[in-house]
Amino acid sequence: MKNAEIQSGISRRDAMKMMTTGSAAGLLGLFASPQARAETKVTPSYTAGMPPVKITDVRVIATAPEGSNLVIVKIETSEPGLYGIGCATFTQRAFAVITAVEKYLKEFCVGKDVDNIEDMWQSAYVSSYWRNGPVLNNAISGIDEALWDIKGKRAGMPVYQLLGGKCRIAVDCYAHASGPTPEAVVENVQRFMDQGFRHIRIQQGGYGGVGTMEKQPDFKAAGFGTDRDQFMDQRTYISRVPKMFEMVRKRCGEDVQLLHDIHERIEPIDAINLIKALETYHPYFIEDPFSPENMLWFRQLRNTTTVPIAMGELFNNINEFRDYMVERLFDFIRIHISQIGGITPAMKVARLGEWFNIRTAWHGPGDTSPVGHAANAHIDLAAWNFGIQESHFWNEKAQAVFPGCQTYKNGYMIINEAPGLGIDIDEKEAARYPIGTMSNWTVRKNDGTIIRP
Ligand code: MG
Repeated sequence: MKNAEIQSGISRRDAMKMMTTGSAAGLLGLFASPQARAETKVTPSYTAGMPPVKITDVRVIATAPEGSNLVIVKIETSEPGLYGIGCATFTQRAFAVITAVEKYLKEFCVGKDVDNIEDMWQSAYVSSYWRNGPVLNNAISGIDEALWDIKGKRAGMPVYQLLGGKCRIAVDCYAHASGPTPEAVVENVQRFMDQGFRHIRIQQGGYGGVGTMEKQPDFKAAGFGTDRDQFMDQRTYISRVPKMFEMVRKRCGEDVQLLHDIHERIEPIDAINLIKALETYHPYFIEDPFSPENMLWFRQLRNTTTVPIAMGELFNNINEFRDYMVERLFDFIRIHISQIGGITPAMKVARLGEWFNIRTAWHGPGDTSPVGHAANAHIDLAAWNFGIQESHFWNEKAQAVFPGCQTYKNGYMIINEAPGLGIDIDEKEAARYPIGTMSNWTVRKNDGTIIRP
C-alpha cells in the first residue's frame, strides 16, 4: 500500500469495491471531511443488535452480615435498570479498597463502554503506574466481576456460558470440619459425610491449633504484645496433626477425601517433614505449606514427598503462579479471586493450569463475599481442570443481603442460574450491618516472636 492508503486505512481496490457496490458509508468515509467521517462511524460488529452501553456510576456497598467486612462494587449503566456487582472484599483493609474505588476507579470508569472487559482490566491495572497489591487488585476485581455480571445480563446467560459453558453438573465442594479435639473433628467429619460431602478439611482448633494450646505462653505472662494476640506452639501442632489424621481415617474410613491447611505457620523444613508423615493417610491435598517468602523450598518438598499440595491464596499477581506451575511444584491453585483482580485474570491462571494438569481449588471462606463465591463457581463450572471448591454456609442475614446466594446439596454448590453472576445485593439490608476496622492476625510463639500466617 502507498502512504496515503496506509493513513486512510483503505486500499485502492477497497475503494473501487465500495464505488461499484454503492456503499454510501464507504463513499462518505473516503471523501468526507475528518469531522463528517467521525460522525458516520460504523457501529462495530460486536455490538450489532445491541445499543452501546456506558458506565454512568461506580458505587461501593460495604456490609458485614456475618461480622466479616464484605465490599461490593456496583456499576450502573446508561441502560435503565442494567447494573452489575462485583466482589472487592479485602476484609482486613476494607476502607482502603473503598477509597481506591471511590476516589480513583470511579472516575477512571465512568463514560467507558461496558463491553470491553479485557481492555478495562489491562488499563485499570496500569492506571496507577505502580500496580499490584491487595488494595488495588480488590478494587479492580470489583469492577471486573461487575462487568462480567453486566455482560451476562446483556447476553441473557449465566457467566459460565460466556466462559465456554459447563464442564460438569455442579461444583463439588469441601466442607470444614474443625474442633478442639480429634474426637470433635471426627464428629464433624461424620456430620458432613452424612450431608453428602466427599471432601472435608480437618483442623484441630484454629490454624496451627490456635486457641487449643494448653500451655500459657511466656509472652503473655511477661505482658508482651496485646491481650488479643494469639499463641501457637509449633511443636505441639506438628505432633497433633498426624494423630488427628490417624483418628479420622480409623473412624471415618478410607473413602472420604481429607484436606488440611498448614497456613504457613511452621518452619519450612518442619512443613516438609510433617507432610511426609501424612503420606500414609493419603490426603487429597495439604494447603499452604510455606509463606510466600519461602517459595524456593518447594523444590525440596517435591523431592521429598508426593502428597498433593495447594498453594497461592496470598499471591498478588498472576505472574507469581507461572514459574511454579510450569515446574509442577504444586497441584492445586488456591486463588482468592478478588485478591488476584477478578474473573479475567483468574481465568488465565485456570487455563494455564490445564496445560500442566494442575487443578483449581479457589479460596472460598466467609471473607469472600457471596458475589465472589458466585464468580468462583462460574469459573469452576467452565474450567476443565477444576479440582475442588471451598464452601461456606451463609447465615440468614447474609442470605437476606445477597438474594441468589449459593446453597449446597449432596456436597455440591448450587448456584442461581439467572443471567450474569446470578446474585444480587439488597442495599437496605446491607446497610443494617456496618463494617469495622478490627482484624486480628497476630499470632506469636512462646517467646513472643511473630508467626507469619
Ligand atoms: Mg489457606
